[in-house]
Amino acid sequence: MKVSLKELRSGVCSHIDFDYTIDLSKEEVNFEFPFKKPVRLSGSISDMAGVLNLSADIETEVSSQCARCGKPVEYNKLVEVDFVLVAENDGTADEGDGVFTVGDEVDLDEILVSELILNMDMITLCSEDCKGLCFKCGVDLNLGECGCDRTGKISPFADLAKLFTDDNN
Ligand SMILES: [Zn+2]
Ligand SMILES: [Zn+2]
Repeated sequence: MKVSLKELRSGVCSHIDFDYTIDLSKEEVNFEFPFKKPVRLSGSISDMAGVLNLSADIETEVSSQCARCGKPVEYNKLVEVDFVLVAENDGTADEGDGVFTVGDEVDLDEILVSELILNMDMITLCSEDCKGLCFKCGVDLNLGECGCDRTGKISPFADLAKLFTDDNN
């Protein structure tokens, strides 16, 4: 959503509120499409003694997968932002952390969606102590022990050692 800042700058109003949802189901993050549900963007742009302040809540439900066992994981995500919007023709301020240069209008989707993506976790786990899958038989170790001998994999030299043993046979 694009919001015109003219009325704010001219003092016709002191704040502009927004509350809308966008569809990000086609947005790929970390090789998956985590936003199956609409993403809600709400907040306001307000004039604080001549400085435009954008404060917003970005709320959504994230659909992901456990990096260890592959089980689907869904969780609610809330990102709260507080940004300063600086006019393009105001040469005094540099764009940087939390500061955006804007013209007569601001593209809320552009600013808020990139902020949401920046705040996404690289790795999702179904639980902190997820045991993952057995690399030998594929059993979900959270459900129980499969009985495979997985000790060899612990040492990176185990496969090498096995090679040498095979040679000797
Ligand atoms: Zn898991
Ligand atoms: Zn197993």
